Amino acid sequence: MEREAPQRRKAVFLDRDGVVNSDEGRYYVHRLPDFVLTPQLGEALRRLRDAGFLLIIITNQSGVARGAYTLRDVEQLHDALRERLSAHGVALAEVYACPHHPDHGRCLCRKPQPLLVQKALARFGIDPARSYFIGDRESDLETARRAGVAGILVASNRGIAEAVEGIVGGRLERGGVAGQANPAPTCEHAVRSMKRHLT
Ligand SMILES: [Mg+2]
Ligand SMILES: [Zn+2]
Repeated sequence: MEREAPQRRKAVFLDRDGVVNSDEGRYYVHRLPDFVLTPQLGEALRRLRDAGFLLIIITNQSGVARGAYTLRDVEQLHDALRERLSAHGVALAEVYACPHHPDHGRCLCRKPQPLLVQKALARFGIDPARSYFIGDRESDLETARRAGVAGILVASNRGIAEAVEGIVGGRLERGGVAGQANPAPTCEHAVRSMKRHLT
């Protein structure tokens, strides 16, 4: 009798600014007082955790390359984020940040390049076909498409509760075969569109 290969894990990738924390009226968020979590973030992430998803943040932080703040500032925010989320019983598997900016040299990790997502896929044994990327920009969706995960576009700073409901509650149907368009936008306020980008 053949042994079945162990099923790979699934993950929800999250953009940071505008999705995890509010960047409304803020530019280059890097100070703790400006780091305000979006509505119901802890509860939403907990639902994803309970549904078995790894939680991974993928963020462009070009303010580092531009000298607006340091990588240490970025790490301090992320330490604070982990602490706040732990109060909800939520742990992030990893936070990947690209500190580069195209004006200061090219890199391979800045979204919409998929390298940071691909690193996570490899490191944690994640199946992209069972995974999602929640972002508030087209570049997030493009990152998702290139990495082969389903992208969900949400309105900036409004919270991800509806997107999470879509994932956990099965309202964002991922059925169909690879290559078929399957938009199924059902959460019209928070989720402006969902695109299926499987290769
Ligand atoms: Mg964003
Ligand atoms: Zn980079």
